[in-house]
Amino acid sequence: MTENIFPDQDHFVERAEKERLLNQHGLVIWFTGLSASGKSTLAVAVERKLFSGGIITQVLDGDKIRNGLNKNLGFSEDDRIENIRRIAEVGKLFCDCGIIAISAFISPTKAIRSMARDIIGAENFFEIYLNTPLEVCERRDPKGLYKKARAGIISDFTGISAPYEAPEDANLVIDTTNLSVEKAANRIIKEITGRIGKS
Ligand code: ADP
Repeated sequence: MTENIFPDQDHFVERAEKERLLNQHGLVIWFTGLSASGKSTLAVAVERKLFSGGIITQVLDGDKIRNGLNKNLGFSEDDRIENIRRIAEVGKLFCDCGIIAISAFISPTKAIRSMARDIIGAENFFEIYLNTPLEVCERRDPKGLYKKARAGIISDFTGISAPYEAPEDANLVIDTTNLSVEKAANRIIKEITGRIGKS
């Protein structure tokens, strides 16, 4: 008789089992857009709404990641790519646990976003392009970064001294210029509900 060398308790618990336990489906919501377009604000607002609806999420944003996992990375081209690569890998781990990961990084180039999509898997990747125009972002300037970029204190600043390549195939495009945070978050929730819905 062949011995069963892989009894059940030695198997990883499958994603589907975890999703059944949580009663939700994993997804990575990937915001992209200029600085001050609204990524972090909407990531937090969407997380709060989902949480109120009994859904477990994890926001991945600059402060969390740059001060922790990626604190050894700078802003060179190679480091920017490595930054996004690690964020995508972390997003994938959460997604594989049935959790909704919400990533809020500029991720300015098609190549960088395509790398993220490949790591995460297109079926798990929901891209939201915040196409709030540069003039509006610059007027908001919540952290004073545009001012510094215009003054040449910050170099390679996306939209000013570094390019932003708009996505052509985002799952959702939102201009937050004349939209409240509440309304923008509701639009996102409406679009993703079918993807994360209770199993
Ligand atoms: P990012 O993460 O893209 O750099 P932030 O979320 O940090 O952008 O900043 C966006 C700014 O725009 C905040 O000051 C926010 O209050 C403001 N804002 C105004 N309307 C909206 C909206 N509908 N959605 C998101 N942010 C908005």
